[in-house]
Amino acid sequence: MSEELLHPDEALRLVLEAGRAAFRASLGGGTESLPLAAALGRHMPAAILATLDQPPFDKSAMDGFAVGMSLEEARRFGEGRQAVWEVVGTIAAGSAAEAGPGPGRVHRVMTGAPLPPGTAFVQRVEYTRAFEGRDDRIVFELREKSDNIIRRGENLRAGDILLGPRRLGPADIGILASSGFAKVSVARRPIVGIISTGDELEAAGATLGPASIYDSNGPQLAAQVEALGALPKFYGIVRDEEAALRGALERALAECEVIVLSGGVSMGDFDYVPKTLEALGVRRIFHKLAMKPGKPTWFGTRGTTAVFGLPGNPLSTFVNFEVFLGPHLEARMGVEGRSRILSLPLGAPLSRKSADRAEYLPVRLAREGEGGRSVVHPLDYHGSSMLSVLAEAEGLARLEIGVYSLPEGGHVDVRLLRS
Ligand code: AMP
Ligand code: MG
Repeated sequence: MSEELLHPDEALRLVLEAGRAAFRASLGGGTESLPLAAALGRHMPAAILATLDQPPFDKSAMDGFAVGMSLEEARRFGEGRQAVWEVVGTIAAGSAAEAGPGPGRVHRVMTGAPLPPGTAFVQRVEYTRAFEGRDDRIVFELREKSDNIIRRGENLRAGDILLGPRRLGPADIGILASSGFAKVSVARRPIVGIISTGDELEAAGATLGPASIYDSNGPQLAAQVEALGALPKFYGIVRDEEAALRGALERALAECEVIVLSGGVSMGDFDYVPKTLEALGVRRIFHKLAMKPGKPTWFGTRGTTAVFGLPGNPLSTFVNFEVFLGPHLEARMGVEGRSRILSLPLGAPLSRKSADRAEYLPVRLAREGEGGRSVVHPLDYHGSSMLSVLAEAEGLARLEIGVYSLPEGGHVDVRLLRS
């Protein structure tokens, strides 16, 4: 066995490089401006700078009274007698600030209200009582430990980075709105053509012949593409026949930015994918990886179009998308590094018979023992056709090349699955 197998880390580097090159080539035409309400889940490739100080004015963190004296002075003001403060006005959130309080005089302020100039601290309402039942005279219990003021620019200053490049989540939408952005510039969604190859395949809903199986890769890849924020376009099931494959690929190459095929990349008599792609001018970047599942994976480019030929086994198709295609699509949309990989201890010892490839194992996570630390349990499965194992999987643990066994407590890198 003297096959040249590429390390998956090197394969990822090449796949990301192709994604970045496509992103650079698309700059200008690669983004669109969307209202915030339509931007959830979209990829924002450029950092956004704050245009406002946050908060934009000194404001009260409490319902209470704005006091012009420092806490020390206020204590002296009340020494040896009961200090009675005169309430000279009320400032609600949203009202304009008023002239500053004078000695012994305070403004009633609501949380979020702009503070009168010269306010030294806010006495919260819980530590006060009305003097002789009057609401324009107040008595303080001076227990404040902080000034209860949120200063202008304390959270963020104009010109600071408001948000770095990212896929926009609900919090990001809130952050953009808080700085007054009604629109945001996001990457266009790349069109990803999906082709299922195999004479044995039938679409869900059809009747199965004695030697046929349902196409699960097509719908699953379309869902993975969609979940990642790109646009899937399904070209159907294509028979293992050169002319049919060529026809589907020609259409997909004309219409898509990324193409993903499943099946037909191995060494079988009917595995036409690599040679058909090369005949259509798709330049091979790699074929065959030192990984399990996913060894026969093929990747190439034509201009900025990227083509992935994934092995047909459903689990390897799934793993391949997680490890290569997803990161490639993100790089194409100008946002990288979203895979979440944690180093976690195994909940039980683990061993395998051969270690010439990096292996991705579906795992579940559990909190065990004292303190409930998180541990990893590989799920029981019988090879890469057993897609149903993914129903229980929360992550993919990677066993490195050369590692035959790991003890309980030994650490593995776990890629958390996108939910
Ligand atoms: P291949 O990579 O074409 O040699 O296929 C490997 C295995 O995956 C075979 O058992 C195929 O039947 C199965 N397979 C291929 N394509 C699909 C698909 N789209 N959906 C489900 N299973 C598939
Ligand atoms: Mg096949």
